[in-house]
Amino acid sequence: MAQEDYYALLGVEKTVTAEELKKAYRKKAVQFHPDKNPGNKEAEEMFKKVSHAYEVLSDAEKRAAYDRYGAAAFEGGGAGPRGPGGFAGGGGFHDPADIFREVFGRGGGGGGGIFDQMFGGGGGDDGSRDGADLRYDLEITLEEAARGFEREISFRKNMGCERCHGSGAEPGSKRTNCPTCKGAGQVRRSGGIITFTQTCPSCGGAGQRIEKVCTACRGEGRVPQTTKLTVKIPPGVDTGSRLRSSGNGEAGLAGGAAGDLYIVLTVKNHELFERQGDDLFCEIPVKFTLATLGGSLEVPTLFGKASLKVPAGTQSGTTFRLREKGMASLRGGRQGDQLVRVHVEVPSSLSAEQRKILEDFARVSGDAAEPTSKGFFEKAKKFF
Ligand SMILES: [Zn+2]
Ligand SMILES: [Zn+2]
Repeated sequence: MAQEDYYALLGVEKTVTAEELKKAYRKKAVQFHPDKNPGNKEAEEMFKKVSHAYEVLSDAEKRAAYDRYGAAAFEGGGAGPRGPGGFAGGGGFHDPADIFREVFGRGGGGGGGIFDQMFGGGGGDDGSRDGADLRYDLEITLEEAARGFEREISFRKNMGCERCHGSGAEPGSKRTNCPTCKGAGQVRRSGGIITFTQTCPSCGGAGQRIEKVCTACRGEGRVPQTTKLTVKIPPGVDTGSRLRSSGNGEAGLAGGAAGDLYIVLTVKNHELFERQGDDLFCEIPVKFTLATLGGSLEVPTLFGKASLKVPAGTQSGTTFRLREKGMASLRGGRQGDQLVRVHVEVPSSLSAEQRKILEDFARVSGDAAEPTSKGFFEKAKKFF
């Protein structure tokens, strides 16, 4: 199978900046969007391809992996694990149509702008409008990212009004046809020789007028309320991971669909560990006696303590690998490792006894140099 060139798909150079990439993607996405190409299978396919390419290239880490390994690194990468309530795990790829919605925002209060202009808003012909997607920023620790966790979050959003069940009409009040459009929801306008139809400005396309508006929501059909949601974060997430919770965004208007809630994660820096993809890196001081004689060293990991065998004669800067003590792979691959670089410490002060022992050691050693320094001094000879 021929491998896709993501840069070529989006019509950009390999050196493209994040801002240019976004622009290029918007252009292509608008060109191939299913709403603009009804029934056109080729456009649909292209839409999926450019969305996927953008998903990869817009993520610095995925882009680096793509540059190194090509598209193969991303094929068959399904969505992450699923938690209760249809909560899709992050890191994997979502349905391209969802990405599109997220990038552009939807109708209603979400204010993506472009989507509304291009496609006439995320609503139906009946005056309904879909609820906006919401974004919730969540900062977590590296330990939480390593193990995964559940947390209850609380946030405010527009929810369906209970008094009027979202209709906006006071219970018991009648609905009458809108006098402006006489129930059609659209009005004709004449612009010189051309006549065109437009959504009725009085009723917003609903065609009906409410006799008495709901006192709880003032006719909006929804009211801002604080709501709670338990989110399940799978192990392996990283800064920038997005988790989508379907239908937990803002309520729609007049029967429109609810938006989605996106949880965008930031993983705090850790005192000891530095993350490198799925691997964790740390530097650990080792006594020069242990490095010389060999022995075992207790090493902290995100999953408790581990024992590391240090062979006799270990040099400063040597890196050891603790298998599968790193981060879980969101793509279902092998768990990462923990890399431990040892830093051999030379004592900065000596007792009289220690000094004597080391002087004896130096005398016994004489001129016999270690292999590393031997090679160095041989090379250095020609400079003296
Ligand atoms: Zn109401
Ligand atoms: Zn009207």
